[in-house]
Amino acid sequence: MHSIVHLLNHTFAMYQQPNNRLKNQTCIVTGANSGIGRAVAMSMARDGANVVVNYVFGDEAAQQVVDEIAQMGGTAIAYKADVSKEDQVIAMFQETIATFGTVDILVNNAGLQRDSAFHNMTLKDWQFVLDVNLTGQFLCSREAIREFLRRGPRPDVSVALGKIICMSSVHEVIPWGGHVNYAASKGGVMLMMKSLAQEYGPMKIRINSVGPGAIKTPINRPAWETPEAEAKLLELIPYQRVGETSDIGAAAVWLASDESDYIHGTTIFVDGGMTLYPGFTENG
Ligand code: NAD
Repeated sequence: MHSIVHLLNHTFAMYQQPNNRLKNQTCIVTGANSGIGRAVAMSMARDGANVVVNYVFGDEAAQQVVDEIAQMGGTAIAYKADVSKEDQVIAMFQETIATFGTVDILVNNAGLQRDSAFHNMTLKDWQFVLDVNLTGQFLCSREAIREFLRRGPRPDVSVALGKIICMSSVHEVIPWGGHVNYAASKGGVMLMMKSLAQEYGPMKIRINSVGPGAIKTPINRPAWETPEAEAKLLELIPYQRVGETSDIGAAAVWLASDESDYIHGTTIFVDGGMTLYPGFTENG
């Protein structure tokens, strides 16, 4: 047993090693001053990408991510923009191109929840979640694709013209009562991603989603912060651990790299098996 644990730790340490798969590429990560976006930004930088740390609130937290990237020898800038606002998204891409020359990778990560029973849901809360989670991904994807097409191929850094990774959720397929606005936004992300992949595959723009299960971040703190809550959550996870943000960072970097060049138009679920509907193990 001891040697297996040792081997696993060794393997994990190896997999954390940087290997410059994204060297000389530039990556915009939206919502990168917290949780999953933060880990994705760090992972992209660890693999050699210049990173734009987008955020909407929390200047200090964004600067911290930039500083940590600089400490490990990487390059990053923080950029404040609301992804649901067209003018701000356009300005963010302009600033990125002015700073780094182009954009190679977009990670559409920014997202939020405004939960309530459906019959109590306000139009404001419905609209807000759709605006950030879905329209935000539309606006950023459109600017990224415009830039990929304008700039043309960079065969020295990637075989693809550009890469887009949409942060979706297991709730693009698992219905979620009490969170109808959120589930609808992620269902929308799924078909936006697939339709874009169909439309722009011929131009060598590679587009996929990551579908996290339960990952420990501020968005879902009540679901894991007490032992009771965590035990209840684990009933939904066959692999019996709550996910870490680094689990998503690793998947996103791989999807951005040429190692995954034949993965196109799909969602990689990173969920410990949550999409296996474990409630059916002893029921149904
Ligand atoms: P988080 O609350 O820690 O981070 C969300 C980030 O989005 C923050 O940086 C926030 O500033 C940013 N953001 C919010 N509105 C924005 C806007 N208008 N413009 C720009 N940035 C904005 O949450 P997280 O768990 O890290 O979530 C990140 C993504 O992962 C979301 O899309 C979420 O739906 C998805 N996700 C998370 C989980 C999970 O278990 N944590 C599971 C499935 C999917």
